[in-house]
Amino acid sequence: MGSKGGRGVTMRRRKAFKRAAILAYWAPWLVVTNRADSVMDVFDCGGWCFACGMRYPRLQHAHIKALCEGGADDPSNIHVLCRACHSASEHRSGDAYFDWIATWTLVDSLKLRAILDGYTGAMP
Ligand SMILES: [Zn+2]
Repeated sequence: MGSKGGRGVTMRRRKAFKRAAILAYWAPWLVVTNRADSVMDVFDCGGWCFACGMRYPRLQHAHIKALCEGGADDPSNIHVLCRACHSASEHRSGDAYFDWIATWTLVDSLKLRAILDGYTGAMP
């Protein structure tokens, strides 16, 4: 009984709750760093990458300090990133991560996305 959707629905709901907690935690930072105009904007447009600002239907939860380095699986240690930015942020932790995100641009992200998608030609 009650097998319709089952575990998948529960997992999706849990992820949605987690996303809301992450946005609530980081909303002031998103405004201070000019990634959002206001806290309201964070929740109206919650579906964009914290690093490049692009809206994608699927975004990933990236740990700022890796779990294997003792980072917490907690909203204070998680950013919402697109696939390309998550890839670029790997192996950067703590202060190094924040140094990276301060200078990373949408153009950097789009170039990396092209490479991840198999583009091997010249890059401007
Ligand atoms: Zn991104």
